[in-house]
Amino acid sequence: MVLYRLTKSKFIRGQQCHKALYLDVYHPELGYYPSEVLERFARGRSFEAKVKAQFEGGIDVLRACRGINEAPATTAELLKNNNETTLYEAAFVYDEVLVLADIVHKTASGEVTVYEVKNSKAVTDVFRNDVSVQHYVIANALQELPTLSLKDFSLICNDGSDNPLTLSLLDVARDAMKHIAAQVQQFKEVLQGTEPQVAMGVQCESPYACPYQRYCSRKPRGQRELDFNSL
Ligand code: SF4
Repeated sequence: MVLYRLTKSKFIRGQQCHKALYLDVYHPELGYYPSEVLERFARGRSFEAKVKAQFEGGIDVLRACRGINEAPATTAELLKNNNETTLYEAAFVYDEVLVLADIVHKTASGEVTVYEVKNSKAVTDVFRNDVSVQHYVIANALQELPTLSLKDFSLICNDGSDNPLTLSLLDVARDAMKHIAAQVQQFKEVLQGTEPQVAMGVQCESPYACPYQRYCSRKPRGQRELDFNSL
C-alpha cells in the first residue's frame, strides 16, 4: 500500500513548476545542485540543530523507528501520553502527503504547537506556503488523534545574529487550507501523467534556481547548434 505520493518539498517544487515536480519524483538523478546550494542547505541544518537544542529532551522520530514508512505511526504512538512531549522530525500523513515537522511540542493536556525552522531573516511567501502545506496535513492528521488539539503553528526564523525569532502563521495557514487541498489534487494528477511539457522561463529561477535547468536546456536529439562561421 502506498502511504504517500507527495512530500512537503515536492509540493513546494510543484508550486514552482509541474515539470520540476514530475522530475523530482521520477528522475531526481537529473537534478544538479551547485556547491553554494549545498552549503546553504548545510547552514540551514546547522541553525535547525541549534534551535532544536533549545527544546530540550526531544525525541527524534526518525531515529526511534526503522524507516520513513513507520515514522507516522511512531509519531502517533509517541504523542499518546499524558506527559509534556517534544518530538523532532515528527511525521504526519494526510491525503497521501507526508510532512516531517522540525519540532512538535505537546503539553500534558494535549495541546500541540508545531515549529518550522528556517535559517532566514525574511518571511517569504515560500515559507508561508511551506507552513500552510504542513498545517493542512497536520491539522487533518490530528483529527485522528482525539486527545490532541492544535494550538499554534509557528515559523522560527534567524534574527540575523543566529538567534531564533518566532512568528505564528496559524491564521495564514488556516486561510490557505482550501487552496492547498486543490493543489494537492492537481499535483497528484500531474504525477499520474507523462512528463509535462513546460518551456523554460522565469519560473526556472524563482523562487529558487531549479535543479533541472541543465536537463531542460538540453537540445532535443538531432537538433544541432548552428555554426555561424559556416554561413
Ligand atoms: S528548469 Fe524550468 S522548465 Fe525545467 S523543470 Fe525546472 S522550472 Fe521547470
